Amino acid sequence: MDNCLFCKIIKGEIPSSKVYEDEHVLAFKDINPAAPVHVLVVPKLHIDSLEGLNDENVEQVVPIHKAIKEVARIMGISESGYRVIVNCGKEAGQTVFHLHYHVLGGVKMGEKII
Ligand code: 5GP
Ligand code: ZN
Repeated sequence: MDNCLFCKIIKGEIPSSKVYEDEHVLAFKDINPAAPVHVLVVPKLHIDSLEGLNDENVEQVVPIHKAIKEVARIMGISESGYRVIVNCGKEAGQTVFHLHYHVLGGVKMGEKII
């Protein structure tokens, strides 16, 4: 996807603060953090959103989830806990249309999501 911000970050065309990388996944710090730890975990394969998951690409979900655990370990929040958020579509406030998982931690969070 030529015009996708996160594809450009994955290709190294736009710099990012990398936390973790493997064959399937890149994880980097959010540019506008909402918590002391705020990391975005993205598949290297371009998928528009959670709604873009299908039989051909759903295997990306397993390495994403493994990477989330790895990111939590690296950032030191495995024990204290963390919240994982995926915004999907307009009403959820998705602004970058390349599937990404927000990993948030380092602070005691409230119960409310919205
Ligand atoms: P969304 O609202 O789509 O779920 O989340 C997009 C996230 O990407 C936002 O939290 C925003 O701060 C982050 N973001 C937008 N542009 C950049 C960028 O150029 N670099 C990084 N590291 N994060 C970005
Ligand atoms: Zn993309």
